[in-house]
Amino acid sequence: MELQTRIEKLSDWIYAIDQQMVRAFVLVGRRRALCIDTGASPMDIQAQICSVTDLPVTLCLTHSDRDHVANLGQFAEACAHPAELPYLTSFSQVNFHGVKEGDCFDLGGKKLTVVDCPGHTPGSIALLEEKEGLLFSGDTISLGPVYLFGDNRDVKDYRKTLKKLQKMAVDGKFHAVYPCHNRCPVGVDIIDELIRCVDGILDGSLPGTPAGLPGRKNVQFYRSGQCGIYWESSERQ
Ligand SMILES: [Zn+2]
Repeated sequence: MELQTRIEKLSDWIYAIDQQMVRAFVLVGRRRALCIDTGASPMDIQAQICSVTDLPVTLCLTHSDRDHVANLGQFAEACAHPAELPYLTSFSQVNFHGVKEGDCFDLGGKKLTVVDCPGHTPGSIALLEEKEGLLFSGDTISLGPVYLFGDNRDVKDYRKTLKKLQKMAVDGKFHAVYPCHNRCPVGVDIIDELIRCVDGILDGSLPGTPAGLPGRKNVQFYRSGQCGIYWESSERQ
C-alpha cells in the first residue's frame, strides 16, 4: 500500500514526515539533524529530509515495527536499542549502533536523550528534549490503539514503562508528547489513561471487544477514555 507523504513544520526545529497513518520526525539543531523513524510506505526519505535541512543527519529508530522502518534501507547507518536488532536482520546493508537509556544526541542547541521504554517492543525507546520538555514517544504513548499482542510485546513491561514516564512527567521532565500515530502533540494526561487501561486488562475489570483483526481472532480491544490497547486474551497472566 502506498501512502501519501507530506512534510509538516510543527515548530522552528521540529518537522513531521507524515504518511497519514504514521509519522517520522526530523529534528534540526544548529550542527546536526536527527531523523526519528522512516515511515510505513516507500518514499524518497532523503529528499524529504533535504527539503528542510542540509545538515548532517543521524537516524534513530524508536523501534523495529514495519510501519517505522519502510525506508530504513536508504540509510547507511542507524541507531536503535540492541533489543530491536534481532528484528532488523533483513537490513543487512545498514550499519547499526546500539543506543540505550541516557545516551544523548547533541544536535547543537538541542539535546535528545534516550529513554528505554520496553513493552510495545523489547527495545522501544523514546527521545526526551528536556529544555522544552518534549518527549518523542514512538508507539509507547499515543491516542488511539496501542498494539500489545504478539510475540515481542509484554504488557507488564509496558506498565512499568508507563509508570516510569508518569513519574518523569510529574517531576517536570516533559509536558508534551510527540507520538508517531494519531494526534500530535498530546498532553501527558494520556499516560494516566493508558495506565488505567493496562490495569483494567491485568485485573480483568476492563471488558474487551473483539478487535476484528485479520488472522487474530483472540485479539480484543480495550478502551479507557480516549486511549485503547489491542491485547490477546489468551496471553492473560
Ligand atoms: Zn507504529
